[in-house]
Amino acid sequence: MRDVYNFSAGPATLPESILLQLQEELLNYQGLGYSMLEMNHRAPEFFAIIDHAKATLKELMHIPDNYSIVFLQGGSSLQFAMIPMNFAKGKRVAYVDTGFWSAKAIEEAKILNDTLVVASSKDDNYRFTPKGFEVPSDCAYLHITTNSTSEGTMFKELPDTGGVPLIGDACSNILGFEYNVEDFAMIYAGAQKNAGVAGVTVAIIRNDMLHDVEGLPHILDYKQHIQANSVYNTSPTFGIYVTSLVLDWIKQAGGVEGIAKRNELKSSTLYDYIDASTFYHNYVVVEDRSTMNVVFTTDDDHLDQAFIDQAWDKGLINLAGHRSAKGMRVSLYNAMPMEGVTALIDFMDSFAKENCVTL
Ligand SMILES: *Cc1c(COP(=O)(O)O)cnc(C)c1O
Repeated sequence: MRDVYNFSAGPATLPESILLQLQEELLNYQGLGYSMLEMNHRAPEFFAIIDHAKATLKELMHIPDNYSIVFLQGGSSLQFAMIPMNFAKGKRVAYVDTGFWSAKAIEEAKILNDTLVVASSKDDNYRFTPKGFEVPSDCAYLHITTNSTSEGTMFKELPDTGGVPLIGDACSNILGFEYNVEDFAMIYAGAQKNAGVAGVTVAIIRNDMLHDVEGLPHILDYKQHIQANSVYNTSPTFGIYVTSLVLDWIKQAGGVEGIAKRNELKSSTLYDYIDASTFYHNYVVVEDRSTMNVVFTTDDDHLDQAFIDQAWDKGLINLAGHRSAKGMRVSLYNAMPMEGVTALIDFMDSFAKENCVTL
């Protein structure tokens, strides 16, 4: 047993059983005599890993047959560029702005295309996810950030796009909240938060989105990566292996349904505690609160910093808010156990009492 709970927003905590398995296999992967770190990306054993990971993901997310699953590099951020490159088809592209990461996606789209921000919660400090907006039918797609990692908001209901293909950056809630894949033309996530380690991005793309784009380099073309079964060039082999182990672990933990219930319980326990206290505050509109990233503050920068530092000394690490935000952020990703939340609440209680506040 390790003696820290790592609330990092990413790269994030992994199931301990997986770390132990990796440690045990490090020198000799399943009797092959060499390490998974040394495996060739075109070895049959590696294709077996890719195919197993794809099949498990398909089962866990109920992905229909008319979708392709592909493992890429470059993080979610490369997708911000590849999406307009591959899917704009010379049309306008539409975005919802819910914070730091959607703004990054919009920034990239604007370099490449006529980009329309159809809804934004910026004027209200990103405290909610926009609802009831219209998407012009001449847009090639609508892009949303399904969970806004820095702001602590989440789309629990997806927008009605009126038939415009919906693309979701699910970096911080993939496999942690139940979405219907069929509502998306594409859904994608860097693995380092909920599905593995940094270096792998999972993309699930409806096949009718794929078409030839003139002047597009092969390395940036989804079709090339899909046709090559995620081995267009040297894949992030070890990372894909870790993802396949995380997917197996999620399956054992009750699938996405079981994990989503657990995330709901972890986050509601923490929100209930914050709401009952007069010392800690969360300003997100209640119905849009994320079950993955809980942000809160004492409304005093010095106290917030003292909280973050003292929590670290107690083994509750990486609780500082995103660099774009003040206060604290608790990332309760899929691999964070309930015990981490209980330990955090115990500390929050003693910190509040020490700072002479009646709860
Ligand atoms: C972390 C994060 C990203 C950035 O991912 P990279 O892998 O660093 O490019 C993008 N979008 C969301 C919602 C995130 O949480």
